[in-house]
Formats: sequence, structure tokens, C-alpha cells
Amino acid sequence: MADIDWSQTKVYVAGHRGLVGSALVRALESVGAGEIIGWTSGDLDLRDREATLDAINEAKPDVVIDAAARVGGIMANSTYPVDFLKDNMLIQTNIMDAAHAADVERFLFLGSSCIYPRHATQPIRESSLMTGPLEPTNQAYAMAKIAGIYYIEAFRTQYNRRWISAMPTNLYGPRDNFNLETSHVLPAFIRRFHEAKESGASSVTVWGTGAPRREFLHVDDLAQACLMLLDNYDSHETINVGWGNDLPIKELAETVADVVGFHGDIEWDTTKPDGMPRKLLDTSRINALGWEPSIGLRDGLTSTYNWYLENV
Ligand code: GDP
Repeated sequence: MADIDWSQTKVYVAGHRGLVGSALVRALESVGAGEIIGWTSGDLDLRDREATLDAINEAKPDVVIDAAARVGGIMANSTYPVDFLKDNMLIQTNIMDAAHAADVERFLFLGSSCIYPRHATQPIRESSLMTGPLEPTNQAYAMAKIAGIYYIEAFRTQYNRRWISAMPTNLYGPRDNFNLETSHVLPAFIRRFHEAKESGASSVTVWGTGAPRREFLHVDDLAQACLMLLDNYDSHETINVGWGNDLPIKELAETVADVVGFHGDIEWDTTKPDGMPRKLLDTSRINALGWEPSIGLRDGLTSTYNWYLENV
């Protein structure tokens, strides 16, 4: 395929100020996209159907990338399932219906690796979607995202739309959420170890047993993958975007502590949930299209910590 002339393309990035959306904007700027549009949540509440339909219809983008979602770590997700299910269903349905009404040619919907069954065979292939029960701690979010994947597929079937979806693994980078109540593990570690170093604390307590394994992809790598997929991928089946290797949370903790310069003890609060034992994505399909990630964990952590020091 490879048919997008970015310089002639108007792209709407939903969620353009978030972790993923802001990386997409950087990537689109670097390929010289004709026009990049986005609305802050103050300007446009994507849960508001009429407002969303009006805004997208008026803007008439050629491409829409949906990186707008209510997201959160293991505690937020399991404490507020109504919000996670409802807001994500509303946001994605409104954006897709609006894009359909505005006759948007290419649409990329972004999900997450938590859509796969808790006991999926590792590394997780795209074909394991809907083959077993979900991990309970992020079920609400996953349910909404699975509906989004199927909604994309439905637009392909019923209206021949060349719309696609992609499933990134755990992401991190600049503009991540560093709020300890709602964040994911990696930004939480940056913050906890940084604050402990600053206050001279002798130990830091983190959640779970440290045994679960996770893989981490820098958002700038994801953004490159997204542009490549919009240009080269046109299938009803969702496609995984991952780093290719995972590590135990315990090892992540030690690595972040080292990058941040915290030398005290790390204690584990095992009353907090572990979540999925493992969720490593099989990335052979996207790798076969020629994409490989390039930002290693240590480099990515160092630059993210520098961003944190300057901005948070
Ligand atoms: P998940 O990948 O959906 O399970 O979400 P998280 O990124 O929130 O959590 C990943 C793992 O890190 C889980 O096993 C958590 O228990 C563990 N973890 C350890 N300390 C923390 C912390 O301070 N915050 C978060 N969010 N997770 C933590």
C-alpha cells in the first residue's frame, strides 16, 4: 500500500495532549503532516455525542487516530469500573460514528494488551482475543476496548471502511500520568523512588509481590508504528505493538531505583493486587511489516525521568 502523502493529510489525533496522543503529534510533525488537529477535553468532551459529531464533521479530517481514553493503573481500574467502561464506550463510539458521518478514510483505534485473556498463551498472539476470561482487575477497560476493536471490524464489514485497530503493550514516556492513585507502575516507580531520594527515606513500599512480568514500550516507538500501520496495514484483525521482551516488576523496580539514584530498600505490600501474571505480546506480525522498536528500557527511563524532573 504505502499510499499516504502525509504533507497533504489532515489528521485528527483524539487525546492529543496525553501520553500517546502527544507522541503521535511529535511523529506527525516529523513527517510534515499537512494539518494536525486536536481538542482539549475542556474544548470538546468526547463523551458528548452531539458535540463530537459536530466538531469532527466540521473539521473533516482525512485520518483519525483515536488515542483518547479514560486510562489508569491497576487500582484505579478495579475501583472505578463504571467510569472505565462507560467513558471508554462513549468516547470511542462517538468518535467512530462521527468519523463515519464525516467520511473519514483512514481510522486507527488504539487498545491495550489487557484485552487478551488472563491465561492466554505467552507471548500473546492476536488470535487469542476472546478465547478466555479476562483479568478481573482491568476487565471494565478491556471490555470497552474489545467492543472498540469489534466496532472497527463492523465498519469494515458493513461499510467497507479501511479502518484498523492496534494493541500496544504497556507504554511509558513524557506526559505520562505520575499521580500515584491512578498511574501505571512505571511512572509510579519514577515518582516513588524520586521522592524517597529527595526526602532521604531509607525504604520505599510498592505493590504486589513483584513477580508479575510486564513489557514496556516507549511511546515514541509506538507513534512510529502507528504511522507505519496507517500506511501499510489494512486488515480486520487487530495487530500487536510491543517491545518483544518482558521483565519481572521486581527487576523494573531495581532498574528505576538505579536510574533515579535511590539506594534504599524496596518493600512489597502484598495486600495490593498483582494483576495479570504475564502479558507479553507476540509481535511477529508487525515485525514482518518491517517495524522494530528502537528505544531500550534504560534509555527510555532516563529520558522519561529527565522529563519528570523538568515538568512534574
Ligand atoms: P497492569 O499492567 O494493568 O497490571 O497495571 P499496573 O501498571 O498498574 O501494574 C503492574 C504491576 O505493577 C502490578 O503487579 C502492580 O501490583 C505492580 N505495582 C507495584 N507497585 C506499583 C505502584 O506503585 N503502582 C502501580 N500502578 N502498580 C504497581
